[in-house]
Amino acid sequence: MKDTNCIFCKIANGEIPSSTIYEDEDFRVILDLGPASRGHALILPKDHYQDVCALDETVAAKALPLAAKIGAAMKEALGCSGFNVVQNNGKSAGQTVFHFHIHVIPRYDGGPEMVSWKPGEATAEELAETAELIKNKL
Ligand code: 5GP
Ligand code: ZN
Repeated sequence: MKDTNCIFCKIANGEIPSSTIYEDEDFRVILDLGPASRGHALILPKDHYQDVCALDETVAAKALPLAAKIGAAMKEALGCSGFNVVQNNGKSAGQTVFHFHIHVIPRYDGGPEMVSWKPGEATAEELAETAELIKNKL
């Protein structure tokens, strides 16, 4: 299903041109217009899903192997030494386009810090209490 108001639906289905690096029946993979590093790519399903919670399970099962394939190709083609697979869900998590997508971000030795956080602290009791809250909703 497509959303006629969604820019990533239009890009994924070829209605708006993009720097495409891969395409199959389920996905188009494009270069990000505002790359965090050289080669930063976005994996877009051709159907519209707002986020990972809405994603079809068959499409989901294909998405991570595709991210691995893209990352491996980046290492060979661009000489990056690693890559991040990042996926944002919800405004508070940094999602700005509400069509599910996976970022594959090449990382170069000596490159800038990104996709990181400062480790916090939690007591064993806090961890147990939080784990219980989540477990009860699964
Ligand atoms: P989000 O913040 O939702 O996880 O990521 C959205 C990403 O899409 C951003 O990195 C942004 O640079 C990229 N982006 C937004 N609009 C376009 C577009 O029209 N074309 C391309 N190639 N990338 C886009
Ligand atoms: Zn869409």
